[in-house]
Amino acid sequence: MPVTVDLHLHTTASDGKLTPTQLVQLAASKGLRTISVSDHDTTAGLAEAQQAVAAFPHMRLIPGIELSCDVPGGEVHMLGYFMDIDDPGFQDMLAIFRAGRLARGEGMVKKLAEFGMHIQWERVLEIAGDASVGRPHVADALVEAGYFQNRSDAFHEYLGRNGKAYVERSKLTPPDAVKLLTDVGGVAVFAHPWFERRGNEPEPEQSLIETVEELKAAGLHGMEVHYSMYDAATVDWLADVARAYDLIPCGGSDYHHSGNPQEPLPGVNGPPPESVERLEEAARRLAAAR
Ligand code: AMP
Ligand code: ZN
Ligand code: FE
Ligand code: FE
Repeated sequence: MPVTVDLHLHTTASDGKLTPTQLVQLAASKGLRTISVSDHDTTAGLAEAQQAVAAFPHMRLIPGIELSCDVPGGEVHMLGYFMDIDDPGFQDMLAIFRAGRLARGEGMVKKLAEFGMHIQWERVLEIAGDASVGRPHVADALVEAGYFQNRSDAFHEYLGRNGKAYVERSKLTPPDAVKLLTDVGGVAVFAHPWFERRGNEPEPEQSLIETVEELKAAGLHGMEVHYSMYDAATVDWLADVARAYDLIPCGGSDYHHSGNPQEPLPGVNGPPPESVERLEEAARRLAAAR
């Protein structure tokens, strides 16, 4: 069956390289009918994406976001859908997260210099433009200066979770991220649950289950199952976990147009349309409870 849903996409509002309009046009060309733009710590790309989607009558956009959270020694990402993006308290929190990204990025530029890689923080800011600044922008500056071939190479030894130039920033705990989202009517979805917890080391199943149980108690509604980087066995296992915990199976390509030729394109992977209906139902219930 062709994939018609992609709920995990990034734009130039954060670390994606396509503008919201370009991304929507690409998604349309891939036959996608329901997409979500889920930028890191910002909703700034949604208005343009919505305008672009309006040119394709068969397409719809779900407002999304991706938040980064701390866990001991690792990182969990939390997606939110259908939240009230006009809530001032919610936007204030996002502004705080984005400010933390600036100090962290500058710290990484300093650390990189200690390893003989000299890039200017001002150049990173230029590359990011109006975006929520992330490690990929630092990676882009490193690639531009000739230190690496692509973003992934820069992450491998230096910018990744356990990389030599990695700098921490303060983030929410995963349950607090679920609460932040649900408080503004957002449906919280555990992103790419299988990695990013400790570097790229896969977590033991038990630890993932414990996280799911903790998040479920905090109000989690879904988790990514159909993720572009997962093999069939991982998808099957995650689908079983989602079923066991009554979580909506979500997912998508996590497309960034990163410049890496191996990056999976939008439309290669995604959840069934039924998952979108379940997300909408959850959003309706959250809205009614506000
Ligand atoms: P940040 O939001 O600044 O913590 O950066 C995290 C983002 O970096 C992720 O959402 C991905 O877009 C990107 N990223 C993480 N690991 C890698 C990698 N190994 N190669 C390329 N990009 C990566
Ligand atoms: Zn990203
Ligand atoms: Fe992520
Ligand atoms: Fe992402």
